Amino acid sequence: MDKLPDLRAMPFEDLRKLTILLGFPPFRAKQIFAWVQRKGVPGTDDMTDLSVSDRALLARHAMISGCEIAAKQVSKIDGTVKYLFRLDDGETIESVVMRYGYGLSICASAQVGCRMGCKFCASGMGGLVRNLTAGEMLGQIFAAQHDLRKKINHMVLMGMGEPLDNYTNVLAFLRLVGDPNGQNMSMRKVSLSTCGLVSMMHKLSREALPVTLSVSLHAPNNALRSELMPVNQAYPIETLLDACRAYIKTTGRRISFEYAMFDGRNDTPDCAYALARLLKGMLCHVNLIPANPVEEHRRRRSHKDAVRRFQDILEQAGIPATVRRTLGADISAACGQLRRQTDTAQSFGVQRS
Ligand code: SAH
Repeated sequence: MDKLPDLRAMPFEDLRKLTILLGFPPFRAKQIFAWVQRKGVPGTDDMTDLSVSDRALLARHAMISGCEIAAKQVSKIDGTVKYLFRLDDGETIESVVMRYGYGLSICASAQVGCRMGCKFCASGMGGLVRNLTAGEMLGQIFAAQHDLRKKINHMVLMGMGEPLDNYTNVLAFLRLVGDPNGQNMSMRKVSLSTCGLVSMMHKLSREALPVTLSVSLHAPNNALRSELMPVNQAYPIETLLDACRAYIKTTGRRISFEYAMFDGRNDTPDCAYALARLLKGMLCHVNLIPANPVEEHRRRRSHKDAVRRFQDILEQAGIPATVRRTLGADISAACGQLRRQTDTAQSFGVQRS
């Protein structure tokens, strides 16, 4: 049997067509869209303003993709919540919800696994398993909101996977999550993080979607960046920065560069000076991230002093730089670590870093 279409991944116009095919009255599409996209219900049974027979008819022609909480950890330090979600086919993904003064922010995944192969990252160690659908990306938000009983109003696409390697589904997802009749999330409160898939960055800049683009740079020169990130061999720094400039030009938005810091590797003053030269004059901001050690990779995080010195050099050169606050340190809330732990240990232990 063919797979039924997922209501969660359906833009309003497609849903309207489906309701016409099913012979529903015209106002049904709006009702169903609100149940699915605004309330995030997990099934048609919850759609209480539809007759029982209409619910049954709808359920025969469409489904709602599942995103079940398989495991959950709550940080005792700052209330950060980390979820392991199980999808309909049994695959698992991670999402993290962080509490800020301005509200809740979710760090959502775009793929199961990742094929970018960054040498320091836990998500990519098993390669790419599959892309997430738009419905499964929304499922992370709905499941977390339902669990926390609170609306999530900010999002970073910085969980597992490379969002621009799943371009079509990610764009469909962003359009749905921004829909005024759904979650109505402002695109200005969304950050999309990429390892630097240049052709897709150019494409994104033409979408008129004012998301903040985060670019994982992590090194100020090609030799070092290629060592850390194989993607740099396909798209070296010069072409990456050209794409960043194009993004700034067409969107008017400031780029955020992520710079994970590894002890003695990319955290020297020379690296900081080189980075400052590279980014001079660009509408950007650098986010310094003391790296999260991933056991298998044997790379250590930079010392506090090295991070501060690096930040000072950038700031003195006129490049705004902040050091990322570590949230959820007691629950290893960094990318891909939880899934790996459960994969390898088949358990759900708290790892302290
Ligand atoms: N694929 C996207 C988004 C996912 S990862 C990207 O590459 O941007 C989100 C961020 O966490 C990226 O900047 C990534 O390089 C970084 N990251 C991955 N593993 C890390 C680690 N062990 N320590 C610090 N940052 C890490």
